[in-house]
Amino acid sequence: MSNIIGTKDEKIIDLMQSHPTAFTSLEFYPPRTTEGVQNLRSRILRMKENTSPVFMDVTWGAGGSTSETTMDLVRYIKECGCVANMHLTCTNMDPDLVKSALSDCRKYGITNIVALRGDAPEGEGEWKASEGGFSCALDLVKFIRLEYGNEFGISIAGYPEGHPNAITILSPGEEETLSEKELLRVSSSEKDGVVQKCVCRDEDYKKEMIYLKEKYDAGADFIITQMFFDTDVFKNFCDDCVAYGINCPVVPGIMCINNFGGFFRMTGFCKTRVPEELKQEMIKRKHSEAEIKKFGAEFGTAMCMRLVSQGAPCVHFYTLNLEKVVYGILDGLGWTKELSSKLEALDADANTMQAKGSAWARVGDEVQSMFGKGIVMEMRPEGAAFIKISNWKLANGGEVKAYLKAGTFKKI
Ligand SMILES: Cc1cc2nc3c(=O)[nH]c(=O)nc-3n(C[C@H](O)[C@H](O)[C@H](O)COP(=O)(O)OP(=O)(O)OC[C@H]3O[C@@H](n4cnc5c(N)ncnc54)[C@H](O)[C@@H]3O)c2cc1C
Repeated sequence: MSNIIGTKDEKIIDLMQSHPTAFTSLEFYPPRTTEGVQNLRSRILRMKENTSPVFMDVTWGAGGSTSETTMDLVRYIKECGCVANMHLTCTNMDPDLVKSALSDCRKYGITNIVALRGDAPEGEGEWKASEGGFSCALDLVKFIRLEYGNEFGISIAGYPEGHPNAITILSPGEEETLSEKELLRVSSSEKDGVVQKCVCRDEDYKKEMIYLKEKYDAGADFIITQMFFDTDVFKNFCDDCVAYGINCPVVPGIMCINNFGGFFRMTGFCKTRVPEELKQEMIKRKHSEAEIKKFGAEFGTAMCMRLVSQGAPCVHFYTLNLEKVVYGILDGLGWTKELSSKLEALDADANTMQAKGSAWARVGDEVQSMFGKGIVMEMRPEGAAFIKISNWKLANGGEVKAYLKAGTFKKI
């Protein structure tokens, strides 16, 4: 273990400069349960040994909901001998939490921070500025540089298709007015049988780039992008960064395609463009998770090959806390050897985890189940839940709670 506790991690930007060829980095989210955290710890160690990532990220739950688990996991990554990149959001929470997280990072030698605005926690609707001045990621970057000088390495989020808030639904006839670049960013989704098209129009995209430049100028070292599935979109974004004077590495965020439902929920939520061929390949494999994962590895390999040939400094995997597809892609790239077959024996992906602070099924969410609508009362290991069934009552007027396995209920 090279990374001794108490010593300071190296800055990722410096590590990038000492890696002339593209490398791997991995991202995890904090699971909801103690058992989930335990599983993830084993997985982090195994994935570190198997894939030698240069850094590993842990996300920060909206409104600070995972602050302790996130801190625990980044410290664990450090113990495992890898550099941790801790996400930190600054809205919808007490600014003191931001301050104490940064001072803990200093104490534990966690040097790298992803500075983010954050979204509203589930059920809170709009995101809210924190009292005391944090209203966007720019404020957080400025705050870190003001309070800590160059002590921390800072990365920021970038959106090759525009931030979802800057993506608008096309009105009838508007599609004909789209520019060449807008056509590359346009996404479509289906709701109740109606196809809806969305795009970040050029004038909004320009505002996004001007704001990104402000974040960069405030002291960010590099950018990690939102997921995308079209490498031309990434290439345009990198060219635009240069055109706007943003001269730092741009790390492509690779969303691992692990299952059908999750993929379309996530891309719908983020208004991500899913090229038609990709959509059709997914539909063909709809009924087999194993086939989806196999395809996810093939698609991811081809995508990463193109990104590396376009000059991406590394491939950053949104692992969703799973291993198979990451191993499949790295084997496909020839960066690892036969990891996928080694994993088959372990079947480690079997222990899936529910995201703590994620957009899906949390305590208090309304869900649809075979018994009708209900409210999640308690999350259990492996994504099962106790659900209060809304329309049912016991003879004595008491509530009916059902214990339902993951996949047998859906958030509405
Ligand atoms: C790589 C990556 C990692 C993420 N990790 C997490 C995580 O760990 N936890 C989590 O909760 N969420 C995470 N998110 C989601 C993120 O918090 C949301 O997308 C959030 O809505 C925006 O955060 P941001 O840091 O991009 O915000 P900002 O950079 O502040 O920007 C958000 C939007 O507001 C606009 N904007 C903001 N301020 C101004 C201004 N002053 N002037 C003009 N325009 C402005 C921007 O143009 C942009 O459209 C992540 C996203 C990415 C891409």
